[in-house]
Amino acid sequence: MPDKPANFIEEIIERDLEENTYNGRVHTRFPPEPNGYLHIGHAKSICLNFGIAEKYRGKCNLRFDDTNPLKEGEEFVKAAQEDVKWLGFDWEDRLYFASDYFEQMYEYAVQLIKKGKAYVCDLTPDQIREYRGTLTEPGKESPYRNRTIEENLNLFERMRKGEFEEGSKTLRAKIDMAHPNLNMRDPVMYRIIKKPHYRQGEKWYIYPTYDWAHCLEDSIELITHSLCTLEFADHRILYEWFLDQLGIYKPKQIEFGRLNLTYTVLSKRKLTILVKEGYVNGWDDPRMPTIAGLRRRGYTPAAIRDFVERTGVSRTDSVVDYALLEHCVREDLNKTANRVMVVLDPIKVVIENYPEDKVEWFNAENNPEDKNAGTRKIPFCREIYIERDDFMENPPKKFFRLAPGKEVRLKHAYYITCKDVKKDENGNIVELICTYDPDSKGGWTNDGRKVKGTLHWVSAKHCLDVEVRLYEHLFTKEDPEEDDDFLKNINPNSLTVLNGCKAEPSLQDAKVGDRFQFLRKGYFAVDKDSTEDKLIFNRIVTLKDTWAKIQAKDK
Ligand code: ATP
Ligand code: MG
Repeated sequence: MPDKPANFIEEIIERDLEENTYNGRVHTRFPPEPNGYLHIGHAKSICLNFGIAEKYRGKCNLRFDDTNPLKEGEEFVKAAQEDVKWLGFDWEDRLYFASDYFEQMYEYAVQLIKKGKAYVCDLTPDQIREYRGTLTEPGKESPYRNRTIEENLNLFERMRKGEFEEGSKTLRAKIDMAHPNLNMRDPVMYRIIKKPHYRQGEKWYIYPTYDWAHCLEDSIELITHSLCTLEFADHRILYEWFLDQLGIYKPKQIEFGRLNLTYTVLSKRKLTILVKEGYVNGWDDPRMPTIAGLRRRGYTPAAIRDFVERTGVSRTDSVVDYALLEHCVREDLNKTANRVMVVLDPIKVVIENYPEDKVEWFNAENNPEDKNAGTRKIPFCREIYIERDDFMENPPKKFFRLAPGKEVRLKHAYYITCKDVKKDENGNIVELICTYDPDSKGGWTNDGRKVKGTLHWVSAKHCLDVEVRLYEHLFTKEDPEEDDDFLKNINPNSLTVLNGCKAEPSLQDAKVGDRFQFLRKGYFAVDKDSTEDKLIFNRIVTLKDTWAKIQAKDK
């Protein structure tokens, strides 16, 4: 691959390397809070942080930013590790937990108190907000701001011991209540939360805020470039203030634009609602934009990495068309997925002039895009299934599929012509009577005869009954959040379950996670709900590339 031009973060890193800012080191981290499953936005951050470490022969830590006991848990820690590995990245022995630094963070807070730079405040959370002022008005100083160092040390220690009620006291940095940046108006460093922590148990009654904790985590791990999303740009001044006051190692915080996707939400809070309130079947529901959901749906790590790469790194947030993600998986699977025939909505075809007990096995190529993919055998016999909508009794002019008196090609097999239609008492078509041309073996003839339509089919005697799950976007609107209540925009048709689909017998040995192209129907993956008796497939994506179309139109 040709080297891509450096993005703005890489430019900063290259300058730092030239100037030897961090002794030639490049050390990044991916710092998820374990309060939900990772989503495609996190994939961007993962690829960026681990990718930069790879590119500059540096290191990247996996660090759980587990400083809030209320919503965090082991399930999310495990899932995130699986996701990062699956995407193809390796943190080696550098798995860290912010909660392991609690003691050190506490010591640093004591140092700030001793320097007269932090104080214990008795204002309630509401009062703190009120005293904070606005962008146009300065804030008001807390009446507790001028407590003595001794008093602060004493109260802070007692906060730690659990002597005070939740919400009754905080530890705050003493900076400037008139600072133009609101984050500098005596921000809270610790609050009292009397809940056990999933790793620390009941050891702590006070927990650090993001602003206080994150810069310390980065500093302790000697991170060189701390990459975060844009909403933290206004917090950088505080990040640096804390580290400067403590006089400890200071990484460089760099902000980049968040990735958003159309027709979905990417916020753990909102995704949690979808899971908890049963709008989807768990965090790995194939409709979810989580990495676990995309994996289960059948997406490949290569497709996700390619997608992230194409969205680029910029200084502004972006909303990316979902069609681009689909385009990336199509491109990847077109090269790698074996082709098979599965009929989703079957109608029976009886080939009158084909002997009752005869079976022929045709050779079928597995993947025309990959000469090494080999071939497989598919059985043909007197009764087969085709798609119901590949037949029309009274077709319009340009209908090139099967109709009374018309001839079509059965992929890899024979030409057939429709002779008759069998209906039930309600007039529904239940069976098609056809004849085949023995001179069209393999799906072609010597006489130059033209057949426009090629249909996929399966042998009725040999096929497997399978279930197929089709998906649409989880939301009906490009921006589900444009209304106050995003739940109103949930797509009621996001899942369609098709039972009684008929698959060619070669699929018998398919395993959970295997991916295929069902001819003319899209790319599919075997779902984990499959049993010994029944395979279940998720449609990953259809074959119609809307992204390529959009691109062509723009040219
Ligand atoms: P959410 O809003 O989904 O909860 P978050 O930022 O609170 O996201 P964290 O677990 O704190 O989630 O994020 C871990 C890392 O992933 C952070 O560095 C964060 O900036 C980054 N990240 C999260 N969402 C996105 C996104 N949509 N695009 C790019 N990076 C993201
Ligand atoms: Mg967060």
